[in-house]
Amino acid sequence: TEPLIEIKNLDVDYGLGDEAVHAVSDVTLTLHRGEVLGLAGESGSGKSTLAYGMTRLLPPPGVVAGGEVIYHDPERGPYDVLSLTNHELREFRWAETSIVFQGAMNSLNPVHRIGTQLTDVIKAHDPRGSAQARNARARELLTLVGIPADRMDSYPHQLSGGMRQRVMIGMALALEPKVVIMDEPTTALDVVMQRQILGQLVELRERLGFSVLFITHDLSLLVEFSDRIAIMYGGRIVEQAPAKEIYTNSFHPYSAGLLGSFPALRGPKRELTGIPGSPPDLRAMPTGCAFHPRCPKSFEPCARDLPVLGVPDVPGGSDREVACWLHPVR
Ligand code: ATP
Ligand code: MG
Repeated sequence: TEPLIEIKNLDVDYGLGDEAVHAVSDVTLTLHRGEVLGLAGESGSGKSTLAYGMTRLLPPPGVVAGGEVIYHDPERGPYDVLSLTNHELREFRWAETSIVFQGAMNSLNPVHRIGTQLTDVIKAHDPRGSAQARNARARELLTLVGIPADRMDSYPHQLSGGMRQRVMIGMALALEPKVVIMDEPTTALDVVMQRQILGQLVELRERLGFSVLFITHDLSLLVEFSDRIAIMYGGRIVEQAPAKEIYTNSFHPYSAGLLGSFPALRGPKRELTGIPGSPPDLRAMPTGCAFHPRCPKSFEPCARDLPVLGVPDVPGGSDREVACWLHPVR
């Protein structure tokens, strides 16, 4: 499959100089055309920072300190999103990438009907269209995300949390993006609702052909719905592999720990073990592998040297990457 977005050696800091906190360090990750890529990791591992950094939506004091984000534009060929002018960036954001932010469902304006909010988005994108056409499109989008079109006249408070979330997805899809980034859209919703919404997104992806970067704590959800999963720890990707591989045969002890933290949806019940200790303090990162103080398999090189992310030197390992001293890389 072809790459759509290639993140290369991305560094994102909060603050400058000595004060800088490295929230994302040397992240290299590819989102392929039409794929659902899941990004998981404990709170504070840098997932949102990566999503904001790669789209240049990072609020201050966040700064992209290095790296490239190559977008493979089907019409214009590849270019680095990080070097776009502000004008080009606006086009990119609206036309190519849509982001549904963490807690997005609360960002609907409470005093406007959802129909108005949808048509406003459509209008901002295409100011020349007629009001009638915008209205028809808004109804179509609502139907697409499973909300009856007669809900156009509802106010946000008249909808359930899940419906509000789906309205946000409808807005994200209004511009026919090539990429939908969902940053933990479902934390506030119950598990059943989470599955429904992600399932619906995956189905829409099949029909409309966009790619999805889905960010969540809930690895079991990713295992079920994504094609590939990347795992973040302390601002770095520590493992990435096809979703099935992560589930049945994860290489990094942190991935195994995360899996142990969530009950399996299917198959035999796993014991909920969780991971002892807490995520690293970015201001005082452990030496070597950042996970080593919590790792049950830590041995001599782990505290000393940082393992590089690479293709594990095992048969059939070519479609995955791991950064762990237990797994020599090619
Ligand atoms: P969660 O799962 O809780 O959403 P996350 O993986 O999305 O977590 P980020 O929000 O990307 O994590 O945060 C990564 C790190 O950057 C955290 O240690 C956080 O404290 C730090 N950070 C985030 N925003 C800022 C900021 N505005 N100023 C300083 N540090 C920040
Ligand atoms: Mg986040």
